Amino acid sequence: MTDPQHDPQDQPPHGPHRRRQHHPLEEHHPRGEGPARLTVLAGPTAVGKGTVSADLRRRYPDVWISVSATTRARRPGEVDGVHYHFVSEETFDGYVERGELLEWARVHGRHRYGTPRRPVEEVLAAGRPALLEIDLAGARQVREAMPEARFVFLAPPSWEELVRRLVGRGTEGEEERERRLATARVELAAEPEFDVTIYNDDVQRATDELVSWMGVRGS
Ligand code: 5GP
Repeated sequence: MTDPQHDPQDQPPHGPHRRRQHHPLEEHHPRGEGPARLTVLAGPTAVGKGTVSADLRRRYPDVWISVSATTRARRPGEVDGVHYHFVSEETFDGYVERGELLEWARVHGRHRYGTPRRPVEEVLAAGRPALLEIDLAGARQVREAMPEARFVFLAPPSWEELVRRLVGRGTEGEEERERRLATARVELAAEPEFDVTIYNDDVQRATDELVSWMGVRGS
């Protein structure tokens, strides 16, 4: 994603982000009938995509979640092959050159992240529900490649809450925080491009709503 050149304050470009008047389930009717086989979950930095997908993994083990490749370093507690495939720049170049990624993006202007294509295709061919948790640029590429997928935007309850979460997480330095905030402003403005908006005011509720859109039953 490109960071905006302007807007030095912690405000989204089109004013504060507000909850919609109507619940998104009443507003949107996804294309096609029946459960979507591929669901793409995107949303701004620190909105809680990772927490929602972890909750989903725990409570709905039938849902397959793609493991992305990334060139960024592994953080403490992360496991190679589980949270990401941690690869070198050269290895990532090879994936791109051979067309092995369904989508990829440089996130926050820094590291590259991408979705290995073959596992997604195999899971979909087996009729299993699949989820990608990726950034906005990646979601746009998937829309081009697989327009039949369902695109879900995970939104914070408010802009103030998003900023609080970004600061509260405290894992990034000041420069990185500003970079992520700038990206978040751009990403929030993309909400209307998505089929569904889910507000992450409560993780389990947000997960349940996501699952209801995916047509998956609990186990
Ligand atoms: P983090 O480094 O904090 O784990 O993730 C940073 C960002 O990269 C998140 O917004 C996450 O959604 C995004 N991301 C993770 N995997 C992929 C991927 O495979 N493709 C794209 N486009 N973005 C990804």
